[in-house]
Amino acid sequence: MKLLSVSNLKLYYKTTKGVVKAVDDVSFDLNKGETLAIVGESGCGKSSLSRAIIRLLPRNVHTYEGKIMLNGTDLMSMDEETFRKEVRWRKISMVFQGALNSLNPVLKVGYQIAEPLMIHMKVNEKEAIERAKELLVKLGLSEEFAERYPFELSGGMKQRAVIAIALITNPDLIILDEPTSALDVITQANIMNMLKKLKRSREQTFIFITHDISVASELADKVATMYAGQIVEIAPADTFYEEPLHPYTQKLMKSVPTLRREKMLESIPGAPPNLINPPSGCRFHPRCDKAMDICRKEDPPTFERGHSVKCWLYR
Ligand code: SF4
Ligand code: MG
Repeated sequence: MKLLSVSNLKLYYKTTKGVVKAVDDVSFDLNKGETLAIVGESGCGKSSLSRAIIRLLPRNVHTYEGKIMLNGTDLMSMDEETFRKEVRWRKISMVFQGALNSLNPVLKVGYQIAEPLMIHMKVNEKEAIERAKELLVKLGLSEEFAERYPFELSGGMKQRAVIAIALITNPDLIILDEPTSALDVITQANIMNMLKKLKRSREQTFIFITHDISVASELADKVATMYAGQIVEIAPADTFYEEPLHPYTQKLMKSVPTLRREKMLESIPGAPPNLINPPSGCRFHPRCDKAMDICRKEDPPTFERGHSVKCWLYR
């Protein structure tokens, strides 16, 4: 069953240097219970895309348009008041990048987890805290963590608490922005296992944003590569990892360390493009060793070659 459908989404910002095209014509679909991983280097627009979906926009918005359908409801035509009351935190929630450091130091963890229920669902405090405790147990912590303050928790425990805050209202969709990047490898694996369990037991739908293409493989059903504000490839996870088609995805794959490091890691030459004046034609062309004449002149459309890829090689 289709849960989310995003079409031609754009989010541009006004700056003194010009208009930043952070999200530039992005489309994808997501079924209930699926996880879409969005991968790409920092600055490619991943976080802007998630903010565009949950509609937490900065003040300097220049353009915000396209279509977002959640469970058949058109979110873009909804006014801010309705969106705030009915959608944000109730139907779509988000774990922000670095959120584990933004827990309130003077409030007990149980209260912070319970808060969205009190604010957005009008549940009374006693019941909300009970539900927070139940959730802590489901996330592999004990009830007694509810009584602790953030400074009494390890990084991994804090991240569980932050994920609990996003889960407590039982939203249809949870967006996780780099949820494990601040954690050590073992804690990262524990959090990924917890997310996998949630995905199965609650049929939870996730958008998982990461710069680490290998982390995404654990949870993802589909993977999208983002480059310069655009999705340049989107595929079922197994195809994506076995046969990436886009030259940029192929480079990202070669930059991943493996346990048996037989080959030298390759880094991708050049820097991600500036989103104010992106390169002409294919935005990846200045860094692409397969670039052809047409790549410099014309923006490639999305071709279907078993899955979608935005590259002239597949014309
Ligand atoms: Fe490389 Fe051309 Fe494909 Fe862009 S369109 S990724 S420049 S081959
Ligand atoms: Mg980011």
